[in-house]
Amino acid sequence: MKVVLDPGHGGSNIGAYGSISYENDVVMSYALGIYQELSEVFEIDTILTRMTDEYVSLSRRSMIAVEESADLFISLHCNSSPYDAANDLQIYYYKDEDEKFANYLFNMLSMVDGKQSRWSRTEFASFQVLTELSHTNIPAVLIEIGFISNVEDEKLMLSPAFMEDFCKTAAKAIVKYIT
Ligand SMILES: [Zn+2]
Repeated sequence: MKVVLDPGHGGSNIGAYGSISYENDVVMSYALGIYQELSEVFEIDTILTRMTDEYVSLSRRSMIAVEESADLFISLHCNSSPYDAANDLQIYYYKDEDEKFANYLFNMLSMVDGKQSRWSRTEFASFQVLTELSHTNIPAVLIEIGFISNVEDEKLMLSPAFMEDFCKTAAKAIVKYIT
């Protein structure tokens, strides 16, 4: 079993930003948290598409999953919106057959304390890291953990307790799905 985790953005590409944080840093913390759970607790072979704050092209990220014959590819992002109130967790998939995993992951992650009362959803989307895996049978989803543009959601995402809970839950969901 092999899982590829993709912390979005990095290096010169900071992604979205909030009042005190940048998306590239936030998603790196989550990727490392999930990585630690998967590799240390569940002993699942886990690979990150970037280990540091560096630029990696979108096609390279998907290529890593192909080269590694991954059983699962998960890209991690924070959303941003001009509407201050936007604060939901979202999970995107591209291949029809990945909708099931997106829903499963969503059902688990929306139970994490702090997220459960929010309006949330899974949706079809043509993000490049997902479409580039459409010719493979590697399940691939993209998680928007929350809205970094929303001060409360940013605070929640930066809270160590929420982060720990989220990463443990994500790892549990991943393991249940692929094993
Ligand atoms: Zn992003």
